Amino acid sequence: MLDILRSIIQEVNEARDLTATLNIIVRRVQRAMGTRVCSVYLLDKYLDRYVLMATKGLDDAAVGKASLAPNEGLVGLVAQRAEPVNLDNARSHPRYLYIPETREEEFESFLGVPVIHSGEVLGVLVVQQKESRVFDSDAEALLFTLAAQLAAAIANAEARGAVVGLSPTGLQTKDPSFGGVPGAPGVVIAKAVTVFPPADLDAIPNRECTDIKKEIRFFNDCLEQVRIDISELKMKIKGQLRPEERELFDAYLHMLSDSALGTEVVNLIKQGMWAQGALAQVALAHVRNMEMIDDTYLRERATDIKDLCARVLFYLQEKTKSSAIYPERCILVSEELTAAMLAEVPKDRLVGVVSAKGSAHAHVAILARAMGLPAVMGVIDLPFAELDGQELVVDGYNGKVFTNPSEALRERYMEIVREEVALSEGLEQIRDLPCETRDGHRVALWVNTGLLTDVLRSKERGAEGIGLFRTEVPFLLRDRFPTEREQADIYREQLKAFHPKMVTMRTLDIGGDKPLPYFPIKEDNPFLGWRGIRVSMDHPELFLGQVRAMLRASVDLDNLQILLPMITNVKEVDTSVQYIKRAHQELLEDGWQVKLPPIGVMIEVPAMAWHVDALAKRCDFISIGSNDLTQYMLAVDRNNPRVSNLFSTMHPAVLRVLKQIADEVKAHGKSLSICGEMAGNPSAAVLLMAMGYDILSMNATNLLRVKSVIRNLSFEQAKQMLEQALQQEDTESVKALVDKALNEAGVGRLLRSSKNS
Ligand code: PEP
Ligand code: MG
Repeated sequence: MLDILRSIIQEVNEARDLTATLNIIVRRVQRAMGTRVCSVYLLDKYLDRYVLMATKGLDDAAVGKASLAPNEGLVGLVAQRAEPVNLDNARSHPRYLYIPETREEEFESFLGVPVIHSGEVLGVLVVQQKESRVFDSDAEALLFTLAAQLAAAIANAEARGAVVGLSPTGLQTKDPSFGGVPGAPGVVIAKAVTVFPPADLDAIPNRECTDIKKEIRFFNDCLEQVRIDISELKMKIKGQLRPEERELFDAYLHMLSDSALGTEVVNLIKQGMWAQGALAQVALAHVRNMEMIDDTYLRERATDIKDLCARVLFYLQEKTKSSAIYPERCILVSEELTAAMLAEVPKDRLVGVVSAKGSAHAHVAILARAMGLPAVMGVIDLPFAELDGQELVVDGYNGKVFTNPSEALRERYMEIVREEVALSEGLEQIRDLPCETRDGHRVALWVNTGLLTDVLRSKERGAEGIGLFRTEVPFLLRDRFPTEREQADIYREQLKAFHPKMVTMRTLDIGGDKPLPYFPIKEDNPFLGWRGIRVSMDHPELFLGQVRAMLRASVDLDNLQILLPMITNVKEVDTSVQYIKRAHQELLEDGWQVKLPPIGVMIEVPAMAWHVDALAKRCDFISIGSNDLTQYMLAVDRNNPRVSNLFSTMHPAVLRVLKQIADEVKAHGKSLSICGEMAGNPSAAVLLMAMGYDILSMNATNLLRVKSVIRNLSFEQAKQMLEQALQQEDTESVKALVDKALNEAGVGRLLRSSKNS
C-alpha cells in the first residue's frame, strides 16, 4: 500500500492545479482499489453545499453541477460527523439520497472520508462499489491518508481562488478576505508588493514577465555564471578530490545544462512567468519528488538541486535588486516581514503592511504603528506569493485583508478612511494643549521612536519627550555594526530634533525577534535567551562604544537619559552603571564636556516587579516595558498569532502588578514611565494615569487620541475606573467596564485603535 500511496502522492505533487490534482486522485484511487466509482466533493462555503468536483465512474457531465447540502445524503453525513462512513448497504441507509444528474447505478457499498484542514471539513472523498461489502481497514487507511494529502492542496487552492474572488468551486464570486490579527490601526486601499527574503526558493512570488526573450536571455546568463562558478570550484579543489567526487561536479554541470533543468525553466518563462518564479517552480517540483523516493542517494540529490538552484537564484536576484519597483502607494506583503524590508521602501510610497507570520506585538508591527501604517499580522494561509500587484484593502482595526474588493466594499472602506481623516483633523486642535484631566491632573505624553521619521511625526503631534528610542532600529537596518561616530551622528539627530525636551535612549536590545543580520543568534528559545542587557554584559566593547556615542551626541544639549532593557538582577544594573560612569570619565579625560545623564531601568521581567526596592535605589527612573512584561507574565509569545488572543495588558493580574510597581516606585520618589504599546491604548492609558504613572510613552499615531480621552475625563473618574477594574476577574470584564465608562464620558469613537494591546 505504501508504494501505491507514494506513487499517487508523487503524481499529485506534479499536478499544476487543483482540478488536475482531483482528477489524478479519483483516477488513481479507483484503479488502485478496484472500485466502480471514486469521487471528490468540495464544500463551496458561499453556497454551503458539497459540490461534485471530480469523478471516475459517475457521469462526467455532473461535475460542478451535482451538489449536496451538509444535511443531505451520505456525503453530507460524512461531512457532518467529520468521520469516515463505511456501509455495505448504502441504499438502505436513511440518509441515502439519489442525485439524478450523476446517473448513479445501483451501488451497494459506500466508503466516504472527510477531507479536513485546520479542523474544517473542506470536502469528502468517496468510493463506491456495486456489490455489497464493507471496505477493509487497508482501503479505509488508504483513503484516509490521501484525504489528508488532499486537504493541504484544497486549502491552498482555496486561498489562491480567493485572491481572484472565486469561491472554491468557482461557482460564486465574493469579496475574498483573509483574517489575521490587528497589527496597527487604520484602513488603506492600495496595490500589494510582495517581498521575500533573498535566496529562498519557497518564498518567490508569482509574477509575469513583460519581455519573454529578454527574460530567457537573462536567465541563461545567470545559469552560465553558475556554470563558471562550479567549474572554477572544481579546478580550485581538484587536487583534493577523489574521482567519484569529481564526478559529482560533472553531474552538477550536467544538471545545469540546457537539456536538463534549464530547459524546463525556459519553457515556463515562454509561458510568461518571470525567471525567478519559473526556477522556483521547477526546482521545488524536482526536490519534492526526489525527497519522496526511498533511496538515500536520490534524496541527497534533492539537496544538490536545491543548492544549485539557490545559486542561480542568487544571480537572478543580485541583478534585479536595484530595480525593485514600488508603486506610488504600496502595501508591503510578505510571509514574514522584517524591519529591513520596511526600510527598503521609499517612505512616501509605503501605505500599509501585511505579514503572514508574526503578531501585533512583533517589532515590525510596532514599527508600522510608529510610522502610522495600517498593518495586519499573522494572516494564516495567506497566499502572499499570489498577491503581488493585486489591489488590497487592509483593515488594521479588525485584522482583515481583502483582495479584489468589489465596488461596494471599496466604498465602505473609503467611508472609514474619510472618517479617519476628519477625526485626526479634529484632534489636531488639541496638539498644543496640555494633557490634563478636567480636574487638572497632568500626565506627560511622550513617544517611542526608532527612525528619524518617527521624530518628525512625533513633533507634529505635540509629544513632550521621547520615552523610548529603540537604538537597535538603526542597527537592524545596516549590514554591519555602525561605528561609534556613525552612532553619535544618529543619536545627535534625535537629541537635537527634540531639544530641550528629554530623549530616553535605550541601550541595544537585540535578540528575541530582533537578531542583527550580521550578528546571528541561533537559539531554541530566543525570547528566554540571549537578549537585551545580557548581550551587552557579554560584549562590553559594544555597550561602552554605544554609551560613548550617546554621551558624545549629547554635548551642549544635555537632554539625554539612558535606559537599560531586560534587567533581571541588580548586578546587571551595577555593572551597566559602572560602564556608563567609565565611558563618561574617559570622555572627560579626552576633553569632551559631557554631563552624566540620568540612568533608568526597564521592568520587563516579571521577577523585577518584586524587586523594585533594589532597582529604585540604583537608578534615577523606572520605565515599564509592558510588551515583554505581559509576554512573560502570561507566558504568551508576543510573536505567535496562534496565541495572540491570550495576550492582554488588560488582564487583571497584569494590572495588579502594574499598580504594585507604581506604588513602590512612588514610595521611592522616583519618576515612573511606561513605554510598552499599552500606553498608547486610550483605555489602558486612563488606568495607568490613575495608578500614578507620570509619563506615558507611546507610538506617535495614538498620542492625540490618548490626549483627547484624558482631557475629557476627571482624575476622580479615572481612579474609580481603576478601582473597579482591579476587582474584575478577567480581561473581558475589565475591557467592558472601561469601554462603558469611556462611552458614557462621550469619547467612545476614539477607542477604535485600542484593539492592539
Ligand atoms: C516592551 O517590551 O514593552 C518594550 C517597550 O520593549 P520592546 O517592545 O522593544 O521589546
Ligand atoms: Mg521589551
